[in-house]
Amino acid sequence: MRRAVRDPAELCRLLDLPEKVGREGGNSTAGFPLFVPYPFLGRMRQGDVNDPLLRQVLPIADELESPPGFAIDPVGDGEAMLRPGLIKKYRRRALLITTGACAVHCRYCFRRHFAYSDAPRSVDDWQPALTAIESDRSIDEVILSGGDPLTLVDDSLAALVHRLAKMPHVRRLRVHTRLPIMIPQRVTDELLAWLCGTKLKPIVVVHANHAAEIDDAVAASFVKMIDAGIVVLNQAVLLRGVNDSVDALEQLSLRLVDLRVMPYYLHQLDRVAGAAHFEVPITTGKRLITELRDRLPGYAVPRYVQEIAGEASKRILA
Ligand SMILES: *Cc1c(COP(=O)(O)O)cnc(C)c1O
Ligand code: SF4
Repeated sequence: MRRAVRDPAELCRLLDLPEKVGREGGNSTAGFPLFVPYPFLGRMRQGDVNDPLLRQVLPIADELESPPGFAIDPVGDGEAMLRPGLIKKYRRRALLITTGACAVHCRYCFRRHFAYSDAPRSVDDWQPALTAIESDRSIDEVILSGGDPLTLVDDSLAALVHRLAKMPHVRRLRVHTRLPIMIPQRVTDELLAWLCGTKLKPIVVVHANHAAEIDDAVAASFVKMIDAGIVVLNQAVLLRGVNDSVDALEQLSLRLVDLRVMPYYLHQLDRVAGAAHFEVPITTGKRLITELRDRLPGYAVPRYVQEIAGEASKRILA
């Protein structure tokens, strides 16, 4: 992460792109600068400004446009925050914002305006959230989210998980992370030790949007997790110019299931300010899913979902 590319001009040099491509997004990075780790960059095509991986991370002038309906907190997380860093929107599941840091800055991210200063930074800061989980016996699954929880060091994560595992009503531990895609070397034996070393049944939800994100090193990280007994699922976001074709979605699903990773969700874009240019109409998304269903085994077709603030679950669109 220390070596990650933070300068658009450097990114353009490394990818053999015209300098002006890097300058275009200059002002749109305010508060959410470019951040791309090398292993991910290495999977982008040289000289292709439309590369589907590059599009996910390169700030462009379109981010400055904010049509009506695109907001700072489109999914109502602010309201669902019970304690600093603890969000409980759905039955049984509590989501812990463990950190604001990520191993990449995805331009379409709905947390790009999130008040991370409110999120806990150390194990002690988790105390109020842990006390709330401990006293709510309806919670049987804790989701570590962020930011990306795997940007934290294993000692902190192990301490947190041991606290959770002591709570009799908590049975499952879910980790939402993009790190196995961004820096697959993060999946170490030390990581598996705390993830698989308690009574909690481990589930890891990774986030790949395009088959080209999954090279051999990423595949090896999946194998390592699955062979350790972890259920590994993928969630993707439907993104214009990245994966809004039936071929792209088919290739992604095939790559995943061939590696024993189940396509879980395809998310409709959350309408966050700055990401309007990524939006694909829901009618198009539904058509893509219908065509995908004609091509793939049922288990390889993700559920197409949308997050609606205040609803009891994600809404299934198709
Ligand atoms: C998406 C989400 C979950 C998990 O929902 P599942 O449908 O079980 O994957 C939990 N909490 C919050 C706040 C969420 O946004
Ligand atoms: S890794 Fe996830 S939380 Fe982090 S910027 Fe990307 S989409 Fe957002």
